[in-house]
Amino acid sequence: MAITARKPAAPATRTTTMKAAVVHDFTSPLTIEQKAIPVPGAGEIVVQIEASGLCHTDIHAAHGDWPVKPSPPFTPGHEGVGIVRALGAGVAEVALGDRVALPWLGYACGTCEYCVSGWETLCLEQKNMGYSMDGGFAEYAKAYARYVVKVPAGIDPIDAAPLTCAGVTTYKAVKVAGTRSSDLVAVFGVGGLGHLAIQYAAIAGGRVIAVDLIDEKLELAKQLGAEFTVNAAKEDPVAAIQKLGGADQAIALAVAPKAFEQAYASLRRGGTLVFVALPADNKVEIPIFETVLNGITIVGSIVGTRVDLKEVFELHAAGKTHVTVEERRLEDVNESIADVEAGRVPARIVFTM
Ligand SMILES: [Zn+2]
Ligand SMILES: [Zn+2]
Repeated sequence: MAITARKPAAPATRTTTMKAAVVHDFTSPLTIEQKAIPVPGAGEIVVQIEASGLCHTDIHAAHGDWPVKPSPPFTPGHEGVGIVRALGAGVAEVALGDRVALPWLGYACGTCEYCVSGWETLCLEQKNMGYSMDGGFAEYAKAYARYVVKVPAGIDPIDAAPLTCAGVTTYKAVKVAGTRSSDLVAVFGVGGLGHLAIQYAAIAGGRVIAVDLIDEKLELAKQLGAEFTVNAAKEDPVAAIQKLGGADQAIALAVAPKAFEQAYASLRRGGTLVFVALPADNKVEIPIFETVLNGITIVGSIVGTRVDLKEVFELHAAGKTHVTVEERRLEDVNESIADVEAGRVPARIVFTM
């Protein structure tokens, strides 16, 4: 066992209960309640959550919007960041006192062909934080030690939280898009994901055009490196992007099928459309003829691996990315959901415990 210079972590509180936000059914607001602090089994850890981001997926989970639904009661949250406070039997991956992130991919089998070929995010045995496992909207959360990612020193947990889903998801989407220097990259939707997608596309060398319906968000996009912006409520984004020659890649992050169709139509020949957002209305109309004749690629991208998240943290620690967050209390979870749904939040809401 390596001896680290780290100061011993403060002892966990003596209480055995914790505050958690719980979904009891898909049509009611979340309730804030006291629950027992989880106890780690073999290979598991318990993390004292410091910060936990609110992702649109949490809202879909709470509403049971998707074909595969979580089973209430459960606690959402897959952007939890905190300190390891308890170790189950056999845990060697992390130590007490480490700061770790608890991402969407809460568990994978580790042995299937997806897991061993760098596609653990496609594992059929996977469990997901805040969906099939209780997530980070609580003072403590249990996790599998092999599937948490250490947060490097120097990263504020409030920044680390959105990077844990919004960051890794858009970082992977840009990888999957294959962005290279001088490519025109259209980012549809400048929210928690979009504001990071813009930065990763720019880091990859792309010239970014950001599309949204809200001027404030487009202003943020400019500050974060978008060269062009289009307000789709005032101007046709397809015409605006085609005027620039068409997008080499378009990344669909807005939860509206119309934005997917616009993203598709904004591509140049040979372009790639990356599906990332998951609208409750699970349908989009794409023409076959133009897809074939124009050699269009359409690809879905789901979160990212532990390695992708590690790279996301490295970029942030190196000062290459900026996270825009609004801090709130866990008690404000229902108002926060309403604000995200109404588009009243510039980027990411993060609950601090
Ligand atoms: Zn998410
Ligand atoms: Zn697997």
